[in-house]
Amino acid sequence: MGTEALPDNHQLHVFLFPVTAHGHMIPMVDIARLFAARGLKSTIVTTPLNATNVSKTTERDRLSGFDINVRIIPFPAVEVGLPEGVESVDELSSPDMVSKFFVALNMLQQPFEELIEAHHPDFVIADMFLPWTTESAAKFGIPRIVFHGQSFFALSFGESLAIYKPWEAISTHADANDSSFVIPGLPDKIEMNMSQLSDDFKSQTIFSEIREKVRESELNSYGILVNSFYELEPAYAEHYRNALGRKAWHIGPVSLRNKDVSDKAQRGRKSTIDEHYVLNWLDSKEPNSVLYVSFGSISRFSNNQLLELAMGLESSGCSFIWVIRQRKNEDGQIFFPQGFEDRIEGKGLIVRDWAPQVLILDHFAVGGFLTHCGWNSVVEGLSAGVPMITWPMFADQFYNEMFVTQVIKAGIRVGVEEYVIWVDGKDGSLVKRDKVKMVVNQLIGQGDEAKEMRKRAKEISEMAKKSVEEGGSSYADLTTLIEEMKNYTSQKFSSSIMGSETITGHQQLH
Ligand code: UDP
Repeated sequence: MGTEALPDNHQLHVFLFPVTAHGHMIPMVDIARLFAARGLKSTIVTTPLNATNVSKTTERDRLSGFDINVRIIPFPAVEVGLPEGVESVDELSSPDMVSKFFVALNMLQQPFEELIEAHHPDFVIADMFLPWTTESAAKFGIPRIVFHGQSFFALSFGESLAIYKPWEAISTHADANDSSFVIPGLPDKIEMNMSQLSDDFKSQTIFSEIREKVRESELNSYGILVNSFYELEPAYAEHYRNALGRKAWHIGPVSLRNKDVSDKAQRGRKSTIDEHYVLNWLDSKEPNSVLYVSFGSISRFSNNQLLELAMGLESSGCSFIWVIRQRKNEDGQIFFPQGFEDRIEGKGLIVRDWAPQVLILDHFAVGGFLTHCGWNSVVEGLSAGVPMITWPMFADQFYNEMFVTQVIKAGIRVGVEEYVIWVDGKDGSLVKRDKVKMVVNQLIGQGDEAKEMRKRAKEISEMAKKSVEEGGSSYADLTTLIEEMKNYTSQKFSSSIMGSETITGHQQLH
């Protein structure tokens, strides 16, 4: 093969294609910004309504001279039987809507390929839930890299489940749902309760099929991009790469790309509360005295659970900021106990729907995070040096809870045991007010355990910040990836001008 170099003026061009869920879009936009800051042309591919949110961020970067763009493809909501304007996972409120959403995602293949044809990216970073992008990229002879939005720990955990199926040995026992099993092959001894395992492992559901497709496309893809940093989970980074043989780059925490107030305040969506009001409110509090309570962008609770949480927070006596999202069918209905809002005035700040999360977590007054354990939230909390109370519900959230409480020991469990996906409309086992009060006092209190967790979280935060600075491990891995993509593109260029065999799939160049 020839070694002709690419023309000097060739600017490497990356396409980034997240699934339209805030937990996937938000880190992908950060990643697009990271590439643009390294001189690449970054193009985010998304649907019309999501483009509106993304464009505000990209506009600011463009004004700073970065080459970052958004390309829009229509989302066929009506064609698949979804209401017009539904383009995002957080708007899905039943299993049937989820199935239709995935049909719509598959219909994006043709318009996506038309965009590749028109704009000639050199490589594609595409969401795990778009498995067909491996095939699309191969058609154009460019690499597809997968973004799951999960940690090395969670990726390794999921892979162990897929390979060893450790629940099978106990699934026929009469008391199976109360039993637990060890996850084989992991660097630490990690046990899982059967009730924490998703149904799609235990029986064939729409998600089982999706999971299998995702895994197959990942095995055929060029590699995996991870929003984590080596120092956080060295044993799992090694395990994933060496024992499981995955080619992976860690480039996180990507949220640290957001440095000023406007970046942090407008990340994802415009917040429903004025950011300066929140900052002033926090300024009036003692260091480490406020609990931030949020369950991510999708999860919603019933009024029963919200009531228990409200009573628990109030009786804890701690200051808190609570982002509330009600069930769709209960939206807007008052659930607060009588007089609650008056009683908590000055002590508790309620935010309906969307808060500037990273801005809040980074404030010195925040001393704890009650979280559903979405990976973005966990990594954002750790980057800010904030220990956690863990309240997982579905997806990789139970794995993340185990990582936080057992591996890095920077959090305590509220004690939920049941895997419940948000569209099932159930709460799982109700967490009672006394339990909430107890764990909040434990975390925000001055006990030795709380002090130790806070110290640990602060150390992790320091490591996180160093990892993304020049000379840090995430900075270096991003450089490695960019260099590898340059070499790949050069080789492709040389082959084409030497008239050698046309490259149709990226694996030839591995
Ligand atoms: N987020 C936010 N404000 C909110 C709720 C969520 O900024 O009120 C952001 C949060 O910072 C994170 C993302 O939305 O980046 C949620 O992702 P995560 O993986 O934590 O959970 P998911 O929403 O995917 O369940």
